[in-house]
Amino acid sequence: MQPPTPSFSALPAVPSRPAERQAWLKTTLVFAGTILGLYPLDVLILGEVRLPSLMMRGVWAAQLVLVAWLRSRANERWDGVLSVLNSVLVSLCFLGVVTLTGAAESPYANLVPSMPLLMALIQPKDTRPAIASGVTSALGVLVMMLVTHGHVLHALAWAGMVGASTFFGVYGSGQFAKAQTAENEARLERARREALEKLAVAERHRMQSEKLATVGRLAASVMHEINNPLAFVRSNLDFLRSEVLAQQLPEEARAELQEVFDETRSGVERIRQIVQDLKGFSRMDVEEPSECALADVVSDAARLAAMRLKHVARLKVEVPAGLPEVFATRRRLAQVLLNLMVNAGDALEEAKVQGGEVRVTGGVEGERVVLRVEDNGPGIPPEVLPRLFEPFFTTKGPDKGTGLGLTISRELVERFGGTLRAENRAEGGARILIALPMHTPPTPTPTSPLPLGEGQGEGT
Ligand code: ADP
Repeated sequence: MQPPTPSFSALPAVPSRPAERQAWLKTTLVFAGTILGLYPLDVLILGEVRLPSLMMRGVWAAQLVLVAWLRSRANERWDGVLSVLNSVLVSLCFLGVVTLTGAAESPYANLVPSMPLLMALIQPKDTRPAIASGVTSALGVLVMMLVTHGHVLHALAWAGMVGASTFFGVYGSGQFAKAQTAENEARLERARREALEKLAVAERHRMQSEKLATVGRLAASVMHEINNPLAFVRSNLDFLRSEVLAQQLPEEARAELQEVFDETRSGVERIRQIVQDLKGFSRMDVEEPSECALADVVSDAARLAAMRLKHVARLKVEVPAGLPEVFATRRRLAQVLLNLMVNAGDALEEAKVQGGEVRVTGGVEGERVVLRVEDNGPGIPPEVLPRLFEPFFTTKGPDKGTGLGLTISRELVERFGGTLRAENRAEGGARILIALPMHTPPTPTPTSPLPLGEGQGEGT
């Protein structure tokens, strides 16, 4: 068995809120210094230098420091006892200074009733120090007045004043404590509700991710099964089409057959597109992310998108070369950007916008690096906006869209710790925002346009 802790074992040091206690010790040193520093006031009141009041101030200051030091080492229970003791001693010392500077005639006497108020102000959460100070000051002032003046009613009036100020001090600190408890409870409740909401969102994301991971795994396994037969279905279909249509046929039958072949071809093409989209997604986990410069990623994507946008829109890239790096897979991120640029191009083409423009800009927002892909197309209709990231949601024709582009893009961005969201621009057109956590602190490199910016990456 361990021997009991020597030295002051009744007041064991407690680690709880040590910084607060240390700060309190420092404040007390300032108080003690002030008490001693105000001695010249006693000299002014008395009209001469008298040592007893200085000595009383010395005792007062020493008591303050000693109790504060003990409190800095005490546990919660002893801290409460010491705070009451401190209150009693402070009140006694102050009464001592009052007595030694003229008792009822001392200007300090007027401050005696404020002692319990002061205690309540210093420790509003605990009413005991204010009560202890009130009782001590009331009894002390009673004795002082009786001894120095012998006037009972006068002495009782002083004690009554101290009693009243104690009541207000205790009442005030009680109200304060109640208000603080209510505020704390409200804050806790808010935090609890926020945590629950975050949990629900995280759960929704987890379920969505799981769903997509399953789609990815499923896609990987059926991909090979579908791809080969699909390849010969396509080529056989083309062969059949040319063979059949080469026959002598009545015009009506020929037109009908042509329509059937076209429909079948577009169905096969859609299957091929879906398989293509899912192929990339299912291989997503294989590639390891690394530090990527977003300007390079955007440049990769812009090069690929330039072909698609050539006859539809001008592509403008304004991504500073000195943007902080992100931790991601360069090829995957480029895939996301390409998808967003192609979507913008599709929207501009569909709406037959003259002077279409797709703009990619980048910057830093707080701790994140943000890329914006904007267009001056028709924007995203309000009924489409909430469904934008749903798997297989598309407004495009069957041979144009699979409705997987944004779903996969969001999934990819989220895997790199980022977010992908869409909004409409006030001036018209859509804006898709990719926000990614920065990997390194920003470098003070000046903004410089990419080679693919206004020049190379532009299409007309
Ligand atoms: P897909 O392109 O195959 O339709 P996506 O998931 O990439 O699939 O896009 C889903 C839908 O979001 C599109 O069908 C389109 O309606 C809408 N959309 C995406 N980008 C834009 C844009 N820049 N402007 C207007 N609508 C857009």
